[in-house]
Amino acid sequence: LPIKDKILFFLDLDGVLRVGKEETKLIGGVKLISKLNSSGRDFRVLSNTTTATAAEISAALKKIGLEIPPEKIFTAANLTGKYLSDRFGHCVCFLIGEIGFAEELRQHGHEVVSLENEVEISPRENSFVVVGLDRKLTFEKLNRAMIQIKNGAGIVASHTARQYYDTSGPTISVGPIVAALEYASKQKAIAVIGKPSPLMYEIALHQSGKKGRESAMVGDQLEIDIAGAKPLGIYGILVLTGVDTRASAIDSAIKPDLIVENVDDLTDLL
Ligand SMILES: [Mg+2]
Repeated sequence: LPIKDKILFFLDLDGVLRVGKEETKLIGGVKLISKLNSSGRDFRVLSNTTTATAAEISAALKKIGLEIPPEKIFTAANLTGKYLSDRFGHCVCFLIGEIGFAEELRQHGHEVVSLENEVEISPRENSFVVVGLDRKLTFEKLNRAMIQIKNGAGIVASHTARQYYDTSGPTISVGPIVAALEYASKQKAIAVIGKPSPLMYEIALHQSGKKGRESAMVGDQLEIDIAGAKPLGIYGILVLTGVDTRASAIDSAIKPDLIVENVDDLTDLL
């Protein structure tokens, strides 16, 4: 389907709608979202973020001038919670992650245990070691997670990105933590949720009741945003306000269907 016929738009957050972790600035989205709303199209934010809840992201966006209700914000954290409840019902999660992730898991009905709880989660059924970004990770926590895995808990990775860009530059992300646990326990993660895993798109499409070919993904990283979308028939749109450039798009094996400078440039095409 041509872009005019797309009825669901997935919008990446960092590098598309906003930039910067501490002092965030709006990149765009106001014009596009207003057009999507007025033309009867639907949209969701689709982000690998695991440190903030959808409600916190919604509030942060409002501060910089973009109104998006929490229920339209899908993150690797809340979709991990959703994935676990759809597949396994109530789960016990040993979390490597921050408070926002714990909150999202609890909102999906899961029990969250951590070092502080001193609860041995195994060998209970439906117990998992859930891995997100944890900027206070310690040897002790990592080791406890490994023991949980040895005792039968499956590894669930919110995503496996190697690095992310913080204000200070490239920073270690979730993937290396997952790799450490896999290596130590000789177990592979039973699921990787976040982009570019097709699971992220499958859950998001299912949750929104739309098909891949009716949808478009707008992202700033070909490897992360576009690579996972294409196998599901989702139209891939690269914006040039983040990581990838026109030159890197030429070099890349992952080809977007469309390249625009700014997310709001899509408004005139709809
Ligand atoms: Mg991005």
